[in-house]
Amino acid sequence: MNLLEQAYKNLYRGAQPNLEFFLEYSGHFREYGGAIKLYTYKRKLACKVSSKWKGVADSIQIGFLQLLIAKVNRTKTQTMEMELYHNFIHNLSKHAVKSYFEPVLSEAFDEVNTVFFDKILDKPNLHYRNSKNPLGAYEYATDTISISRILLQDKELLKYVLYHEMLHKKHGYKQQGTRQCSHSAAFRADEKKFPNWQILEKKLAVLVRTALLK
Ligand SMILES: [Zn+2]
Repeated sequence: MNLLEQAYKNLYRGAQPNLEFFLEYSGHFREYGGAIKLYTYKRKLACKVSSKWKGVADSIQIGFLQLLIAKVNRTKTQTMEMELYHNFIHNLSKHAVKSYFEPVLSEAFDEVNTVFFDKILDKPNLHYRNSKNPLGAYEYATDTISISRILLQDKELLKYVLYHEMLHKKHGYKQQGTRQCSHSAAFRADEKKFPNWQILEKKLAVLVRTALLK
């Protein structure tokens, strides 16, 4: 029985699935990613996961596979293994290698950290991203904030988006069924502590619209 089948059986409490399970490790994923596909007509469930998973404890891998299965089957069940997976990913950010800080972003980070976080946040990796939407992202596994280059034209907006991503680092995320809830009420309340946030939100909307038209 491969781990995928094991994950399936644990998720559905031992139900005997009329399915064939295929699990493959692949070098094509960034970090701890994976993809799943259900071929209903062939009764086949095929999953490819990053080769980084090799050597990670079975229970954690099972948690990840269960999340993929739950997504494809729209199952809301939560399992202990999923919990282990989330802990694993969270801890990765603590141990992630800090290797790259874009100087402009690094300076903005220090400023925002001083004004809003009493300097308590550790500096994550800071990269530019080319995407216009979303303008920023925080990745737990690698402890990386990435900020769109189009924000370089407006320092205040850049800091505002950076602040949002830093709040992700501060608040973490809660798992609700298969979807991650990253924007809790506490998160939203913190977000509004940024001066003139309403004006900045409007400016951001305009910036994204203009950028997408280009
Ligand atoms: Zn967010």
